[in-house]
Amino acid sequence: MHGHGSKRKFEEWFNEYVLRASCCASCEMLLFPGSAVGRIGENLVHLTFDCCPSGGFYVGSIGEDGQVVSAFEGNLTIAEQAMKTGEIQIKNLE
Ligand SMILES: [Zn+2]
Repeated sequence: MHGHGSKRKFEEWFNEYVLRASCCASCEMLLFPGSAVGRIGENLVHLTFDCCPSGGFYVGSIGEDGQVVSAFEGNLTIAEQAMKTGEIQIKNLE
């Protein structure tokens, strides 16, 4: 059946992924690979106006394994990186 295999593969992937992935601390929805995220304390949030109070909390994006791919060394937020380096930080997010 056309498309049957890809749906099953997605379900297999999803069932594995959901065990390792984090949820947004604000909207409580799952964080998917490629999503830009903010870190507020130990909590991860979508980097959106609805979920994150400031772009200063930007910390990286979600990788294929559901874990954060840090934008800065030491898992720093962009604001922490700016304070550490004393330099303006600019990142283009896609
Ligand atoms: Zn969210």
